[in-house]
Amino acid sequence: MRPRVWRRFKLGGETWRAFIVSPISEHLRVDGERKIGTCDYNTSCIYISSDLKGPARVSTFLHEVLHACLFVSQAADAYGQDEAIDERIVGALTPALHQFLNQVADLFVEAS
Ligand SMILES: [Zn+2]
Repeated sequence: MRPRVWRRFKLGGETWRAFIVSPISEHLRVDGERKIGTCDYNTSCIYISSDLKGPARVSTFLHEVLHACLFVSQAADAYGQDEAIDERIVGALTPALHQFLNQVADLFVEAS
């Protein structure tokens, strides 16, 4: 079954799409390993496991969006797009960003 777009957003010059997919989806398999979220730079798509609900889903989405931000902004070029470094940066920033956004979400509603 073709996944339905969950969220669509602009990042850099591209329109990105996020999908909620089955936990056994091929989109969540990287090098034979099962993931709960993935970010495909080639197609500007993010995939999130349908197993995740509530804050876990939001956190995983933010995690993948941060991967996309580092790629799109070319910040990842500063460390040669090294995947281990990328994962450490994203892993460290995700909880902080999630905590921050939870407190200021009303700001975005007011400003739009
Ligand atoms: Zn990651």
